[in-house]
Amino acid sequence: MSLEPAPFTADDYRARMARAAQSAADAGLDGVLVAPGPDMVHLTGYRPTAATERLTLLVVAADRDPVLVVPALEAADAEHAAGAPALTLLDWTDGTDPYGITAPLLGVGRRFAVSDNTWALHLLGLQRARPDSMYTALTEALPMLRAVKDPAELARLEAAGAAADAVYEEILKVRFAGRRESDVAGDLAALLLESGHSQVDFTVVGSGPNGANPHHEAGERVIAPHDMVVLDFGGLKHGYGSDTSRTVHVGEPDADEQRVHDVVREAQQAGCEAVRPGAACQDVDRAARAVITDAGYGEQFIHRTGHGIGVTTHEPPYMIEGEERPLVPGMCFSVEPGIYLPGRFGVRIEDIVTVTANGGRRLNTTSRELAVVE
Ligand code: ZN
Ligand code: ZN
Ligand code: ZN
Repeated sequence: MSLEPAPFTADDYRARMARAAQSAADAGLDGVLVAPGPDMVHLTGYRPTAATERLTLLVVAADRDPVLVVPALEAADAEHAAGAPALTLLDWTDGTDPYGITAPLLGVGRRFAVSDNTWALHLLGLQRARPDSMYTALTEALPMLRAVKDPAELARLEAAGAAADAVYEEILKVRFAGRRESDVAGDLAALLLESGHSQVDFTVVGSGPNGANPHHEAGERVIAPHDMVVLDFGGLKHGYGSDTSRTVHVGEPDADEQRVHDVVREAQQAGCEAVRPGAACQDVDRAARAVITDAGYGEQFIHRTGHGIGVTTHEPPYMIEGEERPLVPGMCFSVEPGIYLPGRFGVRIEDIVTVTANGGRRLNTTSRELAVVE
């Protein structure tokens, strides 16, 4: 289980950059401009220690080989990126104008999608150097650029999902009653790292009324007998994300708690069953939401049903009303309906699901029944 997956090759990155150039062309754009962050990791494997005031920028255009503009003092690091053989490196030294150096790469009067996390400092510098270019946000222009996973990416997401499942099986064995939420969150973080995650992104422990706040992480509240407890945890393993939720109960649940949990479980099942190629993203949301609305809790399901996952734990595609783009085999995203009863408790159940030719396949397979913990 903990075997290292084969690393991505320069050819993998070459193919991804070619796909990005093609996607841009299909959208009527001339290319994509990518700053350090998840898009750069996906397209080049290059992960500078931090985005900084020094310009680092990947230029992918249909009519030229990809170029990575990089500060000279970081060029040696960039050369070691797995995708470097598929790139031309263009370095610039302190005291020169990196935007002026980049401008000729952009051509004249052309249109580029710019990665969302590009610093304003850098985009404004490019606009100054190349005022005839038009720039648009990457996830607005090309929201599905990273959405369809190739088999090697899928294998990593499966491994991350299996590791998160192992964490859930272990957390059921720890004591909840009498301990603080933050203590259980610490257990979750330790288990995620033990299971091979390199990074913990979130460890939600929402006990009792805290569970009714979907954004509650974990606090000092001491978990009590009879509490419902929302658990939602994940991070990155081999560079790809996990994200799963289960709701547990301290001791035997009462009939009302069991009923609310049953509704969410049926909604989550309905959402997963709506996954098939060609269905719209919003169909997954509608299927899950209909179950909750029919049960009378529509007003208490206060978020979208799901989000994509890959080199980040939140990315397109979004399972939300109004998202009409179709599901495509290889997409991976969460199906995570919930019911939130202010002052009382919350319930959320979440699996990562991938689209196959035959429908949805869960990457989280632990029991979705309401588990009783001590
Ligand atoms: Zn209870
Ligand atoms: Zn989650
Ligand atoms: Zn999620």
